[in-house]
Amino acid sequence: MRATFIKTACHPKDYPTLKDSRGRVLREVAVLGRSNVGKSSLLNHFFHAKNLVKVSSTPGKTQTIQFFTFEDKWAFADLPGYGYAQVPGGIRSSWKGMVESYLQERGSLSLVLLLLDIRHLPNEQDLALYEWLFYHNKPTLIVLTKTDKLSSHQLAAQQARIIEALGQKHSSPTNPLLSILYSVPKNQGHRELLFSLHQTLSHPPSIV
Ligand code: GDP
Repeated sequence: MRATFIKTACHPKDYPTLKDSRGRVLREVAVLGRSNVGKSSLLNHFFHAKNLVKVSSTPGKTQTIQFFTFEDKWAFADLPGYGYAQVPGGIRSSWKGMVESYLQERGSLSLVLLLLDIRHLPNEQDLALYEWLFYHNKPTLIVLTKTDKLSSHQLAAQQARIIEALGQKHSSPTNPLLSILYSVPKNQGHRELLFSLHQTLSHPPSIV
């Protein structure tokens, strides 16, 4: 197995310190997206695992962070999905608290994968989260999921619309807003995602 489940945690005091076999703190990739966007499916596919990342039976109810290590190389934090219509307000605000403290306090956080379903333009919550990440200087890679649901000629136009909706002010010719297309059934995006992670996270981790 290339990935290992480490633990579930809600509060910063319970987050694991994840190191490689040489004792260096692993750079961490946080994975965020609306409930049902395909987050668990993508992670299992990326990890070449069947059920390592648990799919919540009640969407929107999983309010914990799951930590994984991947090939003695990187760590992954699967953050709870947001925006499920049936979730009561109290859970929504606990989501915000949990995710904000993770994003602000996790020193090893090196990249956020923000997953968006390619069929839909980003909604208010997606945009608010993206703005927050941008404002707080969190390196972010957009991953557009379920691309098999669109025809190949629809894909590029829809990808452009989503990037446009996220805000051109956040990109420039030298710093373009990057996005990756991902489909689990079509086995699309794995290589591109791996390549992007290597590019973003290749410098050596810090020694503590
Ligand atoms: P999560 O709530 O974000 O973890 O979403 P899941 O991974 O549980 O996926 C939600 C639904 O979308 C499930 O029915 C999956 O089978 C489906 N799904 C996930 N990824 C894909 C994909 O790439 N293509 C298609 N067609 N369906 C997908």
